[in-house]
This record gives sequence, C-alpha cells and structure tokens, in this order.
Amino acid sequence: MPHRPPQPNCADSPAVGTLTVEAASRRILEATAAIHGTETVPLHRALHRILAAAVTAPLDVPAHTNAAVDGFAIRGADLTTGSETRFRLVGTALAGHPWPHPLRPGETVRIMTGAPLPPGSDTVLMQEQVSEASGYLAVPPGHKPGENVRQAGEDLRRGETVLAQGHYLLPADLGLIASLGRLEVSVKRPLRVGLVSTGDEILPQGARHEAGKLYDSNRFSLHGALQARLAVELVDGGIVPDDLSLLERTFRSLAERCDVVIASGGVSVGSADHTRKALARLGDIEFWKVAIKPGRPLAFGHIGDCLFFGLPGNPVAVLVTFYRFVLPALFKRAGAGEAPLMPSFPARTLERLRKKPGRTEFQRGVLEQAPDGRWQVRTTGRQGSGILSSVSRANCFIVLDHNRGPVAAGDWVGVLPFAVLM
Ligand code: AMP
Ligand code: MG
Repeated sequence: MPHRPPQPNCADSPAVGTLTVEAASRRILEATAAIHGTETVPLHRALHRILAAAVTAPLDVPAHTNAAVDGFAIRGADLTTGSETRFRLVGTALAGHPWPHPLRPGETVRIMTGAPLPPGSDTVLMQEQVSEASGYLAVPPGHKPGENVRQAGEDLRRGETVLAQGHYLLPADLGLIASLGRLEVSVKRPLRVGLVSTGDEILPQGARHEAGKLYDSNRFSLHGALQARLAVELVDGGIVPDDLSLLERTFRSLAERCDVVIASGGVSVGSADHTRKALARLGDIEFWKVAIKPGRPLAFGHIGDCLFFGLPGNPVAVLVTFYRFVLPALFKRAGAGEAPLMPSFPARTLERLRKKPGRTEFQRGVLEQAPDGRWQVRTTGRQGSGILSSVSRANCFIVLDHNRGPVAAGDWVGVLPFAVLM
C-alpha cells in the first residue's frame, strides 16, 4: 500500500503561513492597477459606470432663487410684527413664467412652487397660512422674512466640483449630472472579464448527465455577481478539463484579451497541480491559504497585465471569495476612487452558531425584522461550501470575525445584506 502523506483539508484549523482575510485583501488591492481607457456614454446608460473626469457645474442649481411652496411672494421687510399685514395682489408667477416687475412696498405676487421670486421679493407665504380677500391678502402675525425660499445655487454652485473623477455613478448622480444640462458623460470603459470553470467533472448545460459529474454553476453565479454592480464585457472561457496544456492555452488566450480573468476550481491542495503548473508557466501567480470559511485556497497574481484570480471550486466559496476579494479589486481595476460599500451591521442571532477562532466566516443568513422592530437573523441551515441553495435561500451573509469563537443564541453578529451586493 503506497504511503500517503497527511493531506490538509478545509476543516483544519488555520495553519502557519495562512493569510488573514484583511492581509489577503490588502495584497490583492496593492497589486491591482486601474485601466486607462475611457468612453463617452449617454447619461441614461451610465448607471454603475465610473467617471473618467470630474464633473463641474457650469451654472448654479437652482439657477434662480425660487418658491419652495405654492403661495405669495412678498418683501420680508414689509411684515409687521405682532399684528396682521395686508398686501396688494399685483400678479402671478408660475414655474417657467417669472413675474418680471420689481415688487413695490406692500405688493404681493401669487407664486407657484419652483417659480423664480419676483425682483425685490425674498419671502414666500404659504397659501394655507394667509387669507385672500378681494384684491388684497391678509397675513397673520408670526411670519419671518426669508421663509419658504430656495436660494439660487443652494444645491450646486457654479464652478464647483460636483462629482470627482473615479466616482461610481448611482441613480441620483445621473439626475445631478442631468441637472447641469448634460446628456453625456465620460466614463471608464467597461472592464473585460474572462470567466472559466475548470475540472474534469464539470459538465456544460445541455450535456447528458453522467455518473460522477456535475453541471457547471460557478460561471453562472459569477456572471450574475459581475453584472449586478459593474459594467463588464464578459469573455466566456467555458469549461476546461484538468489538463495542463488546455489550461495553459485557455488562461493565456483569456489573459491576452481581458483585464481580469476569474477561474474557479483546481486551486486546492491535491487538485491544484495542473493549474499551478499552467500558471507558473504563464505569469506571476501565488497560491494562498486564506483564513476564511468558506474559501480557503486562493490563487492570485498577474498574467502579463491581466489580473488573475483562481477561486476555489466550491460554489459557495466562489461567491464568498468573489465578494470579499474580487469585487473590491474589480472596482479598483475599473478606476473607481472608492471601494464598494460592504457594510456589516449588528443583528441578533436566533440560533447558536458554530465558529472557530482563527478565521473569518461567512455564514448564510435570513435577516428579518422582529415585531418589536429589531433585526434578527437565523442561518439557512446546513452550511457546507458545496450547498449553493444555502446562498439562494439567504438574504445576507452572517460575518463572524477572525477571533470570534462559538456564538450563543441572542448574541450580536454582523450581517451583510445581499441587497447591497446583488
Ligand atoms: P476544486 O476546487 O477543483 O477542488 O473543486 C472543489 C469542489 O467544487 C468540487 O466538489 C468540484 O466538483 C466543485 N466544483 C468545481 N468547479 C465547479 C463548477 N464550475 N460548478 C460547480 N461545482 C464546481
Ligand atoms: Mg477541480
């Protein structure tokens, strides 16, 4: 019987030489550089794109001081304190149709929300707070000069930097740029991302099922995760068997065409040999053990200018490592000035949770609001890294920090809602 050396496995406690999640993430980000290409896109296509140049305001927004409510424009100085004031109604200002004449003392103009204040006026009295009689307006005491007015430039000042280069565009940003009168925006070009699944056992969809094999899921999870947050041009590398020359050829060809290649499978001890050899021939790739569960083995480095990630094959580990390590690097590679926001906030766990100190864990949770309004979380049940339904049934990750041990029911845990990731 041949002697078999002890094989490390995912259940082992973290060994010497294991990187913490933070250290791995730092090393990845340090080794990631932004692409240079830019393009101009129509504003309505610019969601989740990254600004290639700062946006400055060519005008004040709003451009005119205007009414915040429907009512009557007056000169604040005309208000008498402690008693009723009467005004003579001389005209109407509508949004888009200003009243052009300066207000004289004691005069008022009916004004609608958004209409520019007539020259000389500085105050708008709310319709419901005054009474109109024939030809004049009676204003009870207690009103203040300046009320119900939006000042010119109170949103954006002419010349001001509205959004910095590298800003990741969200819906309000599109509206803000539109408020400057622009229809197009200069953004970083989409990232070209290559996706490939590896393994002799991986079957393409549509193939007849065979004993010992399974259908590829990783490329599909990754495809979805990529599209949710960034503009990417996907280069599909398909499925590559555990074959040195095929792996080498596929990785090389993807790296030549892509800014980032994401492979899954073939990086754990035992299965790694082919991937390791192929990558050693192609570029500068390191194989790490990271203190994370799921997702311990990770390959990272460069093939030429192309960033390469070798994620573990297990379908849950693929998603966890994608969000924790790959997505922040994709933001940086795409030219974003900031990392994507991945807040984890406290909720009470309804169950006790198994946890070993010495690794960060991403358990799959269902976050819900208790009748008293507080947030609580339970797991989706079995947490094996091959149980993809545990992610599908979840709405958050329960993030348990590196040093934490077992968690009792009722304790606080960090939750990272899928709503911010997906
Ligand atoms: P590996 O990292 O290659 O050792 O694979 C770890 C586990 O993930 C094995 O059970 C594989 O069958 C499974 N796996 C690898 N790639 C995929 C994939 N593309 N889709 C689904 N499961 C996979
Ligand atoms: Mg494999």
